[in-house]
Amino acid sequence: MAAISTYGLLPTPENYELWFVYYSEAEPEVKNAIDHIIDKQAIDDDMCSEIYQQFLSSDNSSRVVESAGNQIQKTIHDVTEAVSQANEWTDSYNKTLAKTREGLGQDKTREEINEMLSSVLEETTNMIDKNAHMEELLKRSTQVMEDMQRDLEIARKEAVTDSLTGLANRKSFDMEILRLSNNIAEGECSTFTLLMLDIDHFKSFNDGFGHQVGDQVLKLVAKTLKDGVKGRDLACRYGGEEFAILLPDTPLSGGTKVAEYLRKEVADKDIINRATGERIARITISVGVAEYNTGEKLDRLVSRADEALYMAKNAGRNKVECLNYDPSLKIKA
Ligand code: GH3
Ligand code: MG
Ligand code: MG
Repeated sequence: MAAISTYGLLPTPENYELWFVYYSEAEPEVKNAIDHIIDKQAIDDDMCSEIYQQFLSSDNSSRVVESAGNQIQKTIHDVTEAVSQANEWTDSYNKTLAKTREGLGQDKTREEINEMLSSVLEETTNMIDKNAHMEELLKRSTQVMEDMQRDLEIARKEAVTDSLTGLANRKSFDMEILRLSNNIAEGECSTFTLLMLDIDHFKSFNDGFGHQVGDQVLKLVAKTLKDGVKGRDLACRYGGEEFAILLPDTPLSGGTKVAEYLRKEVADKDIINRATGERIARITISVGVAEYNTGEKLDRLVSRADEALYMAKNAGRNKVECLNYDPSLKIKA
């Protein structure tokens, strides 16, 4: 409650939950995300809501996964029942056939033979019907499984995508940076470079043009970044108006070139007022670049790129700065 009041946040249930989790330290990711912001600036309701959505809300993807789990259990149960039922039918049919074969080996009148054949015929017709029913059931189960596979694929994509910009989200970033450092440890990848990008003076842009125009600008910057990288490079929305890009097998010099190219691409974009056709603003970004040093802690690498980003801000913004690894460098990590 003190935090809610200090930062002038709305006393919503989400905010209570978020700060409860923060102080209980039950979710380190929530604590890190909040600390990351309040170390540098005041936190607002939008930022709290974003962290809540990212880490605490029971979102669509968890619902899909839960329902898929139930569906899988039900389908497995139905199919298991159907298979054991089919086993019983086959057993009984086999018994009828065995009995008939035995019967045919003995002396039988024409009537008795006719009777046996018509009983086999009846069982066979039954069996054909049951098989058709079984085929139908299996077809339905296959359909359910295929639908579920599709839903799970959508949920999987949603879980790693930022809903506003369509870029990879913070969770994807965390997974990818870990994967890259593991690849280096296993000799599958030579190096990688991290870019941290932040929109300049975005708060005053939002204040001047409104949050909705601000969101449109975030989408435009996101698209420019996505279009500006290729192959295995990953552009992510790191949070708010901050982005991160991971460039596998790219040294610092290459990463700086990509950063410079993206900085220019963003600066060259015009923000047009759709109603009047007028150019209303220019958007610029500052970029911090850091190359991974084998064995370095990942949060230190992120802090180093962040430090470079703040050097770019201090140098006047709309700039790219890089920071080499230096073990004696004091970086908050
Ligand atoms: P600097 O050049 O130092 O980066 O200044 P800044 O104003 O960009 O930085 P600051 O961190 O003070 O403000 C970031 C602002 O970005 C706060 C908030 O208004 C805005 N913002 C963060 N997330 C969103 C979002 O999802 N949508 C919109 N429209 N604005 C956002
Ligand atoms: Mg900014
Ligand atoms: Mg920022």
